[in-house]
Amino acid sequence: MSTKKYSDNNLIVEKIKKFRSKAIKQKPNYEEKQLDKPISFWIKEDRLLNKRGKEFTIILRTKGCSWALGPNGGCSMCGYVQDSTFEKIDQAHIKNQIDYAFQEKLTEILEDEEDFVLKIYNSGSFFDDDEISESTRDYIFKKIAKIPKIKELVIESRVDYITQEKLIKMKNSLDIYIEVAIGLETVNDHIRNAYINKGLLFKDFLEANRLCRINDIGVRTYLLFKPPFLNEQTAIDDCVRSILKLAELKVNTISINPLNIQKNTLIEHLFYQKRYRPPWFYSLFKCIVKASQESDILKEVRIISSPSGAGSKRGIHNCLKRECNEFMIKSLRNFVLTQDINHLIRSDEDYSCDCLVKYQLQKRYI
Ligand code: SF4
Ligand SMILES: [Zn+2]
Repeated sequence: MSTKKYSDNNLIVEKIKKFRSKAIKQKPNYEEKQLDKPISFWIKEDRLLNKRGKEFTIILRTKGCSWALGPNGGCSMCGYVQDSTFEKIDQAHIKNQIDYAFQEKLTEILEDEEDFVLKIYNSGSFFDDDEISESTRDYIFKKIAKIPKIKELVIESRVDYITQEKLIKMKNSLDIYIEVAIGLETVNDHIRNAYINKGLLFKDFLEANRLCRINDIGVRTYLLFKPPFLNEQTAIDDCVRSILKLAELKVNTISINPLNIQKNTLIEHLFYQKRYRPPWFYSLFKCIVKASQESDILKEVRIISSPSGAGSKRGIHNCLKRECNEFMIKSLRNFVLTQDINHLIRSDEDYSCDCLVKYQLQKRYI
């Protein structure tokens, strides 16, 4: 892990570390057999590169993200470390987790009429050898190559582990469209490092983007919608700027993650102190609409968003009326599947809720 200095915000780092130690204390002791099953896996509808399809997602349990386990404590909103083992685990377990998920879902995949994107996440970095070794990666690639219905692959990694050698190896092993997902969160270095504590400079992201590009590998960029210490309006402005910049760089996919409150994180602490409210759906819609109206980006880049905890107090929500949130969730899903911005442009004939007035009054203060 790099020893670069990313921000002077030592106070935040100390606080994040305090919450991380709490997570470590609460960590269950995983039995050997639990390590042979992934944290979770599922199939659901999704947007493939140019059409509708299905996603097969597998969340692997590994040692955990080195950034979160290292001296910098990890990102201020991230509680993924809770699902990790903290110690290196035998790679045979990771292979067993993959086998288990495939065994359970293979028939469903083969019988489905639609094509699939396979997403393998490990709440850290696919290319970090401490989490997933080279031989395990090879094992996974061979497994995927045997299933022609899998047309796309997404894996995620911090830029620190993305090397020319690893990309070439992956590309040579698979004859499908591959995207490397990178948590950039915002194009603004200050917000990313001082508020999110991401430990990543934009120039390092540019280099990773370049490496993927020259190896004919797609780049999926995660943007964090409403990082801490930003109000709704500033969050919209930051995310619009980020979308436009990324479209200019010709990344392939922008995945917007509205912040959700995870356990034992600095954000959870701010949330309990009423100093942080997860974003409103109105803001997210406004942001995507604004970015797409400023430039014809949807022809160049696919924008997706599949918010965790949507409609709940801890996730993106409007008021707490069920129908209000359900309408927004449905509109967002329709936009993602079709890339048609009209699904996000509110029409009173479809649905309207009184909370819009409250939102408009508060958006610069909360
Ligand atoms: S958000 Fe990603 S990089 Fe940050 S601590 Fe979590 S897993 Fe690690
Ligand atoms: Zn409402």
